[in-house]
Amino acid sequence: MASDADGGGEPEAGTSLEAPERPLVVFCRKCNTILGDTNAFVCTHPALKTITLGAAYSVTSKKDEVETPPEGEARGSSFYRFYCESCSECVGKVFLSTTRGLDPMRDNYTFDSHAIRSYELSERPQTTVENGSGTPNSSVLLDRLEVLETQLLKVENLMLLFNERIDALESGRGIKR
Ligand SMILES: [Zn+2]
Repeated sequence: MASDADGGGEPEAGTSLEAPERPLVVFCRKCNTILGDTNAFVCTHPALKTITLGAAYSVTSKKDEVETPPEGEARGSSFYRFYCESCSECVGKVFLSTTRGLDPMRDNYTFDSHAIRSYELSERPQTTVENGSGTPNSSVLLDRLEVLETQLLKVENLMLLFNERIDALESGRGIKR
């Protein structure tokens, strides 16, 4: 969609297609709703301070409210905004048309970094204490889920075993139901 009449030549700061080293989960800064993760990473834009993902959760958008910024880094592009579903805060933009530099952002979810927080998934459990909101640590939760799953399996096996024993006992004593 980019026209070839944009002068060219000028080195644009543009987007960075380099995904973060570790997976990130993106939260609404205001209400902590999870909005996306870098499994769908598209790009970041250092100058705009944005991170663009190919998919987003729990967002709503007003597709008919298209804006065309007259100046700034996004000049020459058009977009509509999208909002956190739970608190209605504007968390980013979906670009409908872009200048060449912003091309990777088109039709994807570009989050404004001031509207979100991101949480890095790491190998080791960490605690997020800096904001005091007690965001659950995903890796810790995953570990616990795994333990719970194993325990549940054991309990299920035990119940099957007991069932067999009870059946055997009942038939041995001639108990009828
Ligand atoms: Zn929110």
